[in-house]
Amino acid sequence: MAKSNEVCSFCGRERRETKILIAGLNAHICDHCIQQAKVIMDEELISDKSKSTPDFNLLKPVEIKLYLDQYVIGQEEAKRIVSVAVYNHYKRIFYAKKAREEDVEIEKANIVIVGETGTGKTLLARSIAKMLNVPFCIADATALTEAGYVGEDVESILARLLQVADYNVEAAERGIIFIDEIDKIARKSDNPSITRDVSGEGVQQALLKMLEGAIVNVPPQGGRKHPEQKMIQINTQNILFITGGAFNGIDKKIANRLQTNVIGFKSSKKDLIDKDNMLQYITPVDLKSFGLIPELVGRLPIVTFMHSLDRSTLIRILLEPKNSLTKQYIKLFEMDSIKLTFDKTALNYIVDKSIEFKLGARGLRSILEAIMTDEMFELPSKGETKSLRVTRAFVEKSFRKTNMSRLRVA
Ligand code: ADP
Repeated sequence: MAKSNEVCSFCGRERRETKILIAGLNAHICDHCIQQAKVIMDEELISDKSKSTPDFNLLKPVEIKLYLDQYVIGQEEAKRIVSVAVYNHYKRIFYAKKAREEDVEIEKANIVIVGETGTGKTLLARSIAKMLNVPFCIADATALTEAGYVGEDVESILARLLQVADYNVEAAERGIIFIDEIDKIARKSDNPSITRDVSGEGVQQALLKMLEGAIVNVPPQGGRKHPEQKMIQINTQNILFITGGAFNGIDKKIANRLQTNVIGFKSSKKDLIDKDNMLQYITPVDLKSFGLIPELVGRLPIVTFMHSLDRSTLIRILLEPKNSLTKQYIKLFEMDSIKLTFDKTALNYIVDKSIEFKLGARGLRSILEAIMTDEMFELPSKGETKSLRVTRAFVEKSFRKTNMSRLRVA
């Protein structure tokens, strides 16, 4: 018979009703209560964690770049600059309290990436968010309008971030927002007093507040605000904004600036300018000449650029990224127990077609998809096929059969 004190001190179960009854100094605890306590403890620890230190991985700039190298091919300057910017940004969040005590508040530094479409701007921003494990969303500046006009309010961007963060306001408040096509809201004239281009400038003004860091009332479901709607407040102070745009024609503005700067010098300085790659000389001044308002340029202090993708980079893009297209197809075929290999000459052909049709990196996928469709359709049902070697002859033949209209770029 159980001794009278051999009961669980928490639930009162007797020893025979338990699997284990652990004795302490003046008390006992049974297996049920241990399990219960574990659940409570886990819940408490998780909510504590979300309240205190953010659970993202803060790597050093060199490590950030190494991470980015796995996904983004080439674009060395942009990767270095973004690695440092992201590191400083999150250091600023981590040490915010200490910095305030010491009276050295580090200001937020949002980023602009200038480069043709399809050169990896979005990929870079997305990879950073993936690495840090923070909420990430993409917005298109062309869809935005000033409050009161038809289109999306800038607050809708925050609503999207909040959705991605599963409505966890704290997580959203340290997320990353990529705003694409920021160049499309540029003022059409460099001189504000002549033609006030309301649509572009108004949106720039609206964005400004959010980029600076403000408490913004966000309609949780996105869409337009209406009076009865319940709003969620989001502080954008620690949200990192990465903006991107092609800024077509900005190379001429850079060239003009450089030419004017070198007046009075012997032509030797001019000769040092690499005219085929003017973007590498970009500065905030050029963004201003392009039509971004000075206040906005001031809020985007980190300016970097993307190179256009040449043949050898496109080939590397097919092969090297962790989830490169060739690796993805190899995996897909492997699931049907088929060993897929690509000849280098076949890949050269694919890249050449992508360049010929001006499809860039995005075209690689459409071309490969078009080429592989027949095999992906037939091979899984042909039990006997164990391997497929994609040769140049195979690619040429398949490409000729494809309907070019299928080569749409997503
Ligand atoms: P952007 O934002 O500059 O228009 P994206 O980042 O959307 O371009 O690039 C489109 C696609 O092309 C990416 O999803 C990726 O597959 C590929 N790509 C482009 N540039 C690169 C790069 N530098 N390294 C690896 N893949 C790239």
